[in-house]
Amino acid sequence: MCAYMLTKMGYQVSILERGSELGGALRYIPKYRLPKNILDTTFNNLIRIAHIEVKFGVEMGNDGKALADLKNENYRAVFVATGTPNPRPLTIGRERVAGEELEGVMFGLNLLFDVNQGKVSPQLFQGKRVVVVGGGNVAFDVARTARRFGGDASLICLESEDKSSKDGIPADVEEIEGATEEGIKITYSRGVEEIIGEGGKFKKIKCPRCTSVFDEDGRFNPKFDRSDVLYLEGDVLLITIGQGPERAFFQQEGLLDERGRLDVDQLTLMSNRKEGVFIGGDVRRIGFAAEAMRDGIVAAESIDRYLKGKDLKAGREKEYESATIPKLMDYKSQPELVWAPVEERLNFEPFEKGFTLDEAVQEARRCLCCGPCKSCKGCVVLEFQPEISEIEVNKDLCSGCKVCLAVCPYDAARLEKSDEGLVAVIDDFKCKRCGLCVTACPAGAITIKDRFAETVADAYASL
Ligand SMILES: Cc1cc2nc3c(=O)[nH]c(=O)nc-3n(C[C@H](O)[C@H](O)[C@H](O)COP(=O)(O)OP(=O)(O)OC[C@H]3O[C@@H](n4cnc5c(N)ncnc54)[C@H](O)[C@@H]3O)c2cc1C
Ligand code: SF4
Ligand code: SF4
Ligand code: SF4
Repeated sequence: MCAYMLTKMGYQVSILERGSELGGALRYIPKYRLPKNILDTTFNNLIRIAHIEVKFGVEMGNDGKALADLKNENYRAVFVATGTPNPRPLTIGRERVAGEELEGVMFGLNLLFDVNQGKVSPQLFQGKRVVVVGGGNVAFDVARTARRFGGDASLICLESEDKSSKDGIPADVEEIEGATEEGIKITYSRGVEEIIGEGGKFKKIKCPRCTSVFDEDGRFNPKFDRSDVLYLEGDVLLITIGQGPERAFFQQEGLLDERGRLDVDQLTLMSNRKEGVFIGGDVRRIGFAAEAMRDGIVAAESIDRYLKGKDLKAGREKEYESATIPKLMDYKSQPELVWAPVEERLNFEPFEKGFTLDEAVQEARRCLCCGPCKSCKGCVVLEFQPEISEIEVNKDLCSGCKVCLAVCPYDAARLEKSDEGLVAVIDDFKCKRCGLCVTACPAGAITIKDRFAETVADAYASL
C-alpha cells in the first residue's frame, strides 16, 4: 500500500521481496476464506496500474542487503514492512517445552503456507488424530485446514471458554462456532508442559490446568495447577500460539531501543534511530490486513514530507481519536452471512456465500460514524468551509430545559452551573454540528456559525 500511494504521488518505487510472490501473510490464509485467484488478481492489478517495480528474491538482513546498500543504490527512503514470519515456540514459564523435534510435531503457521503452496499431501492428516495448540484465529485456521484434509482435529488452549472474561479465548465467535460444527473438539484452560514421544514420534502432550492467563497488571503470565493434569494423545501436533518478527535485521541495523523493541515514532512511523527509515505493518504491531495497509498509507505521507523537507508531524495529530457512538439511532443490522452446510463445507472452496449485490451496496452506504468534526475536517478539506463551524449557546436565552441533552445523538450537550443558573454547554470535541439541538431548542438559544449558505450561494452564482 505504501508503494502504491507513493507511485500515485509520482515517486519511482521498488518493492524488495525475498519470496517469489507478493502478499506476505495473506498467502497463509486458507483458500476457503481467501481464494488464491483473488489475491493474485489484486496484486497483479495494483502493480500493473501503479507501475511498481518488484524485485523478488531480495533479502534484507541475514546474508542479504543492509540499509546502507540501499542508500548506495540511490534509494532515498525505505519502508520496512517485513511482518511476523517466525512462529512462536511452546514455552512453560521461561522454559522451552521439550519434545519439539519429534516426528509429527510442526508449527501450524508453516503448515498453512505449505498447504497454500500445494506442498502438503493430504495423507499427512487422513484418518490421523491432529492436536492443535493455540486459541487465536490462526490456530482455528490450522485446525479447520487439518479437518479438511480428513484429520480428526482437536484444539487445546490456555484460555477459558468465557470470551467476556480477561482470560477468555481470543478467537472470533464465528471461528469457534464454525470449527465446532465441523467436529473439532476444543479443550479450554490447559497448557502444555511436555511433548512426549515414542520411538522418535509424537505420542501425547502433558497438559496442566491453566488457572489464569494474565496477571493483575494485564501481562501474559499463565499460572498452572500442576496437580490437575490431562494427557492428550495424537499423531500430529501443530503448535500455533502466535508469531513474531525476525529480530536479527533490526538488531544489525540498530533500530531497536534499549529494551529490544522497535524504536519508531508512532505518528510518522519513522525510526527514531535512523532518518529516512520507516517501519510499519505487523512488524510494528500485529493486527489485521487493513491496519497494515493503514500503516503503508501513513508511511507514504511521511516519506513524501521527508523527501520534500517538510515537517513530518505538522497537522497530523488527531485532536480526538475515537468517535462517540451516536444514540437515538435505529441501526440496521448487518445482513446474515450464509454458510454452506457442514457436509458441503469440508473442502477448500469458500463456504461463506457473501452479500448479494444489493446487500453489498446497502452496506457500503452505511454511515461509519468516523469521528467528531475535530478529527474529520472533511468540509474544510473540500473547501465548503474555511474552518470547522462554531457552535454557541446564548446563556441569556437558555432556560436549562435539557431538550438539547435529550436530542443530541453524540452526548455533546450538558448543563453547567453559571451565574444565570443552569445553562447548556456544548462539548466542542464531541459535537458533529448536526444541528438537531439548534432546531429543537425551544428558546432558540443555540446557533451554528457555518458558511454553508454562502458556499451554496457562491456555487450558484458561479454557474
Ligand atoms: C493465518 C493468518 C490468517 C490471517 N487472517 C487474517 C484475516 O482474516 N483478516 C485480516 O485482516 N488479517 C488476517 N491476517 C493478518 C494479515 O495477513 C496481516 O496483518 C498482514 O498481512 C500484515 O501485512 P504486512 O505487510 O505488515 O506483513 P506481511 O504480510 O507478513 O508481509 C511481509 C513481507 O515481507 C517479506 N519479508 C520478510 N522478511 C524479509 C526480509 N528480510 N527481506 C525481504 N523481504 C522480507 C515477506 O516475505 C512478506 O512478503 C492473517 C494472518 C495469518 C498469518
Ligand atoms: S461538519 Fe461534517 S464534514 Fe465538517 S468536520 Fe464536522 S463532521 Fe466533518
Ligand atoms: S434546549 Fe436550549 S434552552 Fe434548553 S437547555 Fe438546551 S440550549 Fe438551553
Ligand atoms: S449540533 Fe447539537 S445536537 Fe448536533 S452534535 Fe452538536 S450539540 Fe449535539
